[in-house]
Amino acid sequence: MKAAILHGPRDLRVESAREPEAGPGDVVVAVTMAGLCGTDYRIWSGDRPVGYPRVMGHEFIGRVLATGSGVSRIAVGDRVAVEPNYSCGTCPLCLEGNRNLCLSRVAVGIDVDGCFAEIARVPERCCWPAPAGVADEDLLVTEPLAVVVRAVNRGAPQAGESAAVVGAGTLGLLALQVLRSRGARVLVVGRSARRLPLARELGAEATLRVGEEPLERAAQRISGREGVDCVIETAGTPEAVAHALALVRPGGRVILTGLPHEPTPVEFFSVVRREITITGSMIYQDEFPEAMRLLGAGSVRTRPLITHRFGLDDIAHAFAVHREPASIKVAVVPSQGSV
Ligand SMILES: [Zn+2]
Ligand SMILES: [Zn+2]
Repeated sequence: MKAAILHGPRDLRVESAREPEAGPGDVVVAVTMAGLCGTDYRIWSGDRPVGYPRVMGHEFIGRVLATGSGVSRIAVGDRVAVEPNYSCGTCPLCLEGNRNLCLSRVAVGIDVDGCFAEIARVPERCCWPAPAGVADEDLLVTEPLAVVVRAVNRGAPQAGESAAVVGAGTLGLLALQVLRSRGARVLVVGRSARRLPLARELGAEATLRVGEEPLERAAQRISGREGVDCVIETAGTPEAVAHALALVRPGGRVILTGLPHEPTPVEFFSVVRREITITGSMIYQDEFPEAMRLLGAGSVRTRPLITHRFGLDDIAHAFAVHREPASIKVAVVPSQGSV
């Protein structure tokens, strides 16, 4: 099979590789479509080192080619979305349900080979059968959607509440739609104006380009009070964390799901004085089924988010385009030839 193999920072080569075989409990999947995200870019660039050589890629859907012994829930021919993280299942964190926090968690495409290949292997428990009627393009965002479903659930928005989403990338535009499905009124804040019309098309009641006007004022306008009830931060920059804290009302909730890799100064005086609840939200625990339900019900529109598609041979181009402002979600389609 063909696979894009990372041999070191920025050294990604499309080569022929041994086809993975299904060991006990494993499922072998023909990759239909894979998504590229900021984590992949950090791995590709070397910001996040991995064991080389590594087949990267963790957001994917596919069709089951083979199953190993003991696999009972998934069958050959099934169309599946893959949950690309699995935990040890035996540590105190796993036993209490905090699978996403397991210190021995294995991330597909990071710790083990992933999906920028024609064929990938994952444990059966990572596979979720696709609901009939949900197109591949929609299913592709199940993973990032599960991330924001968890973040929104941790913010517990009530119908009629006001909310803000910081960041207008894939996560932000999905969080907006999950918040809308809960009946919240949503302000989307972006660093550039480029995606704000799309945010409005996807249901944002208001949008704001940072710098256009004070964040507090925009938050007061949509909430009709001191600020919004709940903020979902998806951008993962120190600046975005500060914006989230500026948007929220006294007594409100800020959910951080973007990963701020840089040191982040926080003015805790205002957190204490306003009794802000700051909650971290790390990937997902049990949110895949809910993400699929939202896709199946048509509550989340995903097509406008997938802006580019490349064949595996063209994956270098996919990484370059991922950094361009015009792209939102870049997809890799292994069966597609170079364009
Ligand atoms: Zn990702
Ligand atoms: Zn564990």
